[in-house]
Amino acid sequence: MNQIIPPTIPPALFAERADAIAQAAAELAASGWTPATSSNFSMRLDAEHAAITISGRDKGHLGRDDIMLVDMQGHAVGTSARPSAETELHTQIYRRWPAMNVVLHTHSRTQSVASRLFAKEGAVRLQGWELQKAIAGQTTHDSELLIPVFPNTQHMPELVAQVDAWLDAGKPLHAYLIDGHGIYTWGRDMAETRRHLEALEFLLGCELDLRRLSA
Ligand SMILES: [Zn+2]
Repeated sequence: MNQIIPPTIPPALFAERADAIAQAAAELAASGWTPATSSNFSMRLDAEHAAITISGRDKGHLGRDDIMLVDMQGHAVGTSARPSAETELHTQIYRRWPAMNVVLHTHSRTQSVASRLFAKEGAVRLQGWELQKAIAGQTTHDSELLIPVFPNTQHMPELVAQVDAWLDAGKPLHAYLIDGHGIYTWGRDMAETRRHLEALEFLLGCELDLRRLSA
């Protein structure tokens, strides 16, 4: 592969993270959540670097050569490969939360439909669901879990600014939807982030069912 690893990063660490990303991606692809090469995944390597999927690859069949290094501004490091167009959304999360080490972004049908349906309201308000407790820090079904829906754009700085504005207003954020597009969520490790993603997929599906059944 053409990825040059900076001397401060153990090559075994990069390989381990690349393998973890590829395995998670294969499982999420098997669930049908990454259609047509969409979606992107990353893991932090250190304070300055993250490993992220290269743009346009089939997420069901990733190998180490499909994962590259970026710095925390989203620029490629040690490779001429092109990172995902949405890399800045990943590095934003690592910059804002030093404790977060994994970011997963998928485009499932449920996530996509929910993002369109709830875009008018600007957020999905989850309350009363036991599975809200799967999100780190949520201790009861009684609390309200707000998942904002940001307008889609191909101009990443606009999306970054929307996320910053939400956080700078002091609002909690565990995940967000992008209208007509998909979901972003993150966590301290891969297991926690997968749990967040699965819980949110389930909860969004429940909200869609409720709307359908009470129409
Ligand atoms: Zn996307």
